[in-house]
Amino acid sequence: MGYHHTSEIAAQLENASLEIALAEWRTVLNPANVITDPSLLHSRASATFSTGQSIPAILKPRSVAEVQQCLEIATRLKIAVYPVSTGKNWGYGSGVPVSDHCVLMDLGQMQQIVDFNEKLGYVTVEPGVTQAQLHAYLTERKSKLWMDATGSSKHCSIIGNTLERGFGHTPYGDHFGQVCSFEVVLPNGELLETGFSRSAGVAGAPVYRWGVGPSLDGLFAQSNLGVVTKMTLWLMPAPEYFEAFFFSCDDESALGSIVEALQPLRMNGTLRSAVHIANDYKVLQGIQQYPWQEAGNSVPLQPDLMRTLRLRLRFGAWNGSGGLYGTRAQVAEARRLVRKALKGRVHKLHFLNEKLLGLAERYSKFFRFVKKIDFRRTISLVRPVFGLLRGVPTERSLASAYWRKRTPPPSSMNPDADRCGLLWQAPLAPAEGDHAERIASLARSILLEHGFEPALSFTLLTERALICVIALTYDRDTPGEDQRASSCFKQLTKALTDSGYMPYRLGIQSMDLAGRDASSAGLVRAIKAHTDPANILAPGRYQRVK
Ligand SMILES: Cc1cc2nc3c(=O)[nH]c(=O)nc-3n(C[C@H](O)[C@H](O)[C@H](O)COP(=O)(O)OP(=O)(O)OC[C@H]3O[C@@H](n4cnc5c(N)ncnc54)[C@H](O)[C@@H]3O)c2cc1C
Repeated sequence: MGYHHTSEIAAQLENASLEIALAEWRTVLNPANVITDPSLLHSRASATFSTGQSIPAILKPRSVAEVQQCLEIATRLKIAVYPVSTGKNWGYGSGVPVSDHCVLMDLGQMQQIVDFNEKLGYVTVEPGVTQAQLHAYLTERKSKLWMDATGSSKHCSIIGNTLERGFGHTPYGDHFGQVCSFEVVLPNGELLETGFSRSAGVAGAPVYRWGVGPSLDGLFAQSNLGVVTKMTLWLMPAPEYFEAFFFSCDDESALGSIVEALQPLRMNGTLRSAVHIANDYKVLQGIQQYPWQEAGNSVPLQPDLMRTLRLRLRFGAWNGSGGLYGTRAQVAEARRLVRKALKGRVHKLHFLNEKLLGLAERYSKFFRFVKKIDFRRTISLVRPVFGLLRGVPTERSLASAYWRKRTPPPSSMNPDADRCGLLWQAPLAPAEGDHAERIASLARSILLEHGFEPALSFTLLTERALICVIALTYDRDTPGEDQRASSCFKQLTKALTDSGYMPYRLGIQSMDLAGRDASSAGLVRAIKAHTDPANILAPGRYQRVK
């Protein structure tokens, strides 16, 4: 993976330029923020799958001015730089650059929340602002606004996730759809602002995305055209009343019918949030590690054992969750419509508010002691999902990266250092039952065939589109497993793209899918050549190399 430098002379010249650049960077940054310690470089070059890239240095700018100066030096000396916000892009490459020999620019220390407006519901953040930080900020102010959160760690960056067009669970779950006014440093160090921010003193900049003239925001997501140093995101007003619903269905062939039942409700606005449907493997990964003993130490977890486990732990072949938001009357009507739509298609359907969830948690203790049935594990998954539907970030789902590990997840989880194996593939499709069925069937047969569990979730992210997230989870400490996972991933990607299902985002392991369409790729290439003629910024990221 990456660029290979053929000539030794070129390599020597590059090293000499790097030494000059390091000396210059040490004059503009605090020298402690120019890191060349080999062990730190090595740890930042590891991901949740095998990578070969080396990182010659790490820069940790603390301000926009420092970012500008660092990039001006990089462009002048032709040193490749790869920006990350918190670098926790697990399953897609973590913080590892796409190409070899890129200096990592870690923006995690730029952690200011620079603007906030309760009435109009927006906040402007720097790249190091994490989900936990924004959530604490809103809580401290007793704000009546909700953020959206992903199921990844609380310590992930809001900007990093949005630039990948990541998603969460609330009505504001499609992150790139809720942002505007980017401040961007171009590779030559120039500063650019988008939307109305590009004209000084325009009052509407944080509340209106387009400005006048061509909209530039899209150029800076899933691209390598600039370093985003500020972004405004909109926050949703907390509804008067909120209820979550959870359903499960024991019939393995019910996915298409469930999608068909829910899509019209998503389309007509009854369901405003991203409804999530997970299969049994995905739920099991969320509540425990691989049942090594019961599986006789063999992998993959066979469908018949999976069936036994889901009956014992009381979840379905398909398991869904979503939120209802509005006044009490609106929620009551939405509840009626969801119930009607799912009637005869699912086996269990529960609506939960905070009070009922508290009771269910207590009830699970009663069942455990009196009836000897243990609901704790399934309930333990309900609480974090309930929180995510209200934009409360959680550390809970990260433990699923440790699914195949032989030891329990540590209290401070670091899937890269702990050698968790994880590759995501996330195909996008029209929100229709047939498409969901086809993706599920492809993923299921390919993963099982290669010795991995097909852990799948389908999210009705918008009114019209669904995203399937396929987790290929393994243990990097098992000999040969990195290689097997990689060939499974390649076959899966080929089967999905051949069937018309492109991923909604690419990891560093699949950047070769970028820029397949010649005309738009040509325009993007021309813009890149204009703003970054030396191709120093994140070479290879969402960019066709040849
Ligand atoms: C168990 C688990 C659950 C997950 N759940 C979700 C989920 O629900 N939704 C979801 O979307 N993802 C999820 N993820 C994937 C991933 O962890 C998140 O998307 C995470 O937010 C990305 O990492 P980050 O925020 O540190 O971004 P970064 O790693 O900092 O950024 C991602 C990429 O964007 C680019 N970039 C970052 N910052 C900048 C910048 N300022 N300027 C220019 N380019 C930049 C870089 O190329 C970088 O590689 C999950 C992962 C795991 C392991």
